Amino acid sequence: MYPTIQLVAGKEPTVTFGHPWIFSGALREIPSGVAHGDLVYVADRAGRVIATGTYSNKGSIAVRVFELGRVVVDSKWFQTRIGEANERRILAGYGPGTVTTGYRAVFSEADGIPGLIVDRYGDVIVFQISTAGLDRLRDEIITAIENVFAPNAIVERSDVASRAEEALEEVVCVRFGDGLDQVMFLENGLSMFVDPLVGQKTGFYLDQKDLRKWIINHECVFHDHSVLNLFSYTGATGIAAMKAGAKSVLNVDSSEPALLGCKKHAKMNGVVQKKFQTQKDDAFAFVGRHESNSFDIVILDPPALIKSRKDTEEGKKAYHFLNRAAMRLLKDGGVFITSSCSHFLSEEDFAFLLRRSSIQNGLKLDMIGSIYQASDHPRSIYFPEAGYLKTFCFVVNH
Ligand code: SAH
Repeated sequence: MYPTIQLVAGKEPTVTFGHPWIFSGALREIPSGVAHGDLVYVADRAGRVIATGTYSNKGSIAVRVFELGRVVVDSKWFQTRIGEANERRILAGYGPGTVTTGYRAVFSEADGIPGLIVDRYGDVIVFQISTAGLDRLRDEIITAIENVFAPNAIVERSDVASRAEEALEEVVCVRFGDGLDQVMFLENGLSMFVDPLVGQKTGFYLDQKDLRKWIINHECVFHDHSVLNLFSYTGATGIAAMKAGAKSVLNVDSSEPALLGCKKHAKMNGVVQKKFQTQKDDAFAFVGRHESNSFDIVILDPPALIKSRKDTEEGKKAYHFLNRAAMRLLKDGGVFITSSCSHFLSEEDFAFLLRRSSIQNGLKLDMIGSIYQASDHPRSIYFPEAGYLKTFCFVVNH
């Protein structure tokens, strides 16, 4: 049914071992007529079909595998795959009727659907397509989403940078539904909102829900303490700190809409505005000029400062600068909570730069917690690239 591309000798194991990417060097000549974005079968040297996927001629990843063996990828296939991924979220404790109704239902390769993100915010679904292969299958995907979730609204947020590499335009639109400027949902029992058409990512950093859970469960850390929330976005993590008994939170972000979101989140959760301040600022400049020993707790959650492997050295310097300056703002015995969402900064390298920063500052960091991306962003054992977010919590002694 689909054209077949053959692997070069010796490359079968990488496919049969479950990794979803086949690099162009692993393929023999591409048959004429196979176009960018086509569904294809992948065959071994003997001509046996071993996988089904989509073909790309734009980057080094030539085939993204959807399933081992020969399958038909239609709306029924998507419905099964999306439905199964959603069932795993239910097993992880998320979903309607629970305290967490906002979650990532499909996390691309890590859920066996390379190129597709599906986020659920209560009754609203936001999806994102990042590959040419899936871009052609949009109608099938929308039908499948309707059948799995029966949502009140569907929004498409296909505006990731990687689409340009696949020669795709941005697509941001409402597929159906209305009232989308303030979609409400629960996270760890707290009231949250997103504006899925204009917010960052699909509107919310769903991946940090385990950090917020840790915070809520650590009243012993937060009670009556002052908190600095750097790179706050819409303040969800600061709201968790207030829930854990913090005396005050100062949210710092460079985005005005994000800070308006902080104010909305405070109101929705009954937090008094004057205890939940916002400051529009460049966080790099803020940490550089702010006085040492000012806060009981500092939360540092920057955007990915290493976006690709080639940025690693520059990015490490930025992490080092930020962490070194941010930990100085803590009072003796304060708590430093620091995250990195860069896949290309390994946990070991992150620990190393923290160690270096602490020694340069003459501070001692003792770990009281380590937290990772929540389980709705699974770190698939078949796809190590899915792991990116890590957070360490330290007591800082002078
Ligand atoms: N902790 C947040 C997510 C932070 S995402 C949460 O869990 O919701 C990173 C944030 O950094 C975004 O809100 C972005 O607007 C902000 N940002 C990016 N560069 C910045 C800079 N130089 N200074 C301050 N904020 C910045």
